[in-house]
Amino acid sequence: MNEPENARKTVTIDIRKDLFGANENAAVLNAENFKAHGVFSLDIMGSVGTGKTQLIEALCERLGKKYRILMFAGDLATTIDADRVAAHGVDTVQINTGTACHLDARMIKVALQKVKLADYHIVFIENVGNLICPAGYSLGVDKKVVVVSVTEGPYMIQKHPLTIKSADMIVINKIDLAEALEFDIDALEADIREVDADLPVFRISSKTGEGIEELIAALSL
Ligand code: MG
Ligand code: ZN
Repeated sequence: MNEPENARKTVTIDIRKDLFGANENAAVLNAENFKAHGVFSLDIMGSVGTGKTQLIEALCERLGKKYRILMFAGDLATTIDADRVAAHGVDTVQINTGTACHLDARMIKVALQKVKLADYHIVFIENVGNLICPAGYSLGVDKKVVVVSVTEGPYMIQKHPLTIKSADMIVINKIDLAEALEFDIDALEADIREVDADLPVFRISSKTGEGIEELIAALSL
């Protein structure tokens, strides 16, 4: 039997698949853009208060004379982090995500259109402060760095295995506070090894500078 003339088909859209597909496409374009300009890029992820900004400040302090650095600061609101990094003589772009709890590749693609990438050697991207969804969105960077710290309690790794899996390296920050907090860094590192036996781990104090040079060497900067 023929369908009536005015029959309509129902179209089903897998929003999740489409959105992730769009993100992946934008990430590929970002990666090509970074590569074309010889820019080394880092996506720095971690909860609020782990010292992501502090780590970027410590890196800018040591690398600012050798390289021209650009920092993208992802936040729901405010320019607090971008302002802190700008104080080190580094150009910054604030990306206020409004309600989005992570940066995605399309936000970075738009942000890259607003800057002259050829002017820079390094781009640091500070992701929105949480350890859950940022890991699900590739930005097209060279390296993904996950920052945890000794102030977050002992279960950060066990509770976020997928984030750890997505990382290229882990920074354990604020080691200068470990003794006062009776924090077992070896146990935390053992948790990381459970998830990925080969993942590079750096014990750092962005405050005292301990371990920063080792991280810089590992990044070949
Ligand atoms: Mg910050
Ligand atoms: Zn999110």
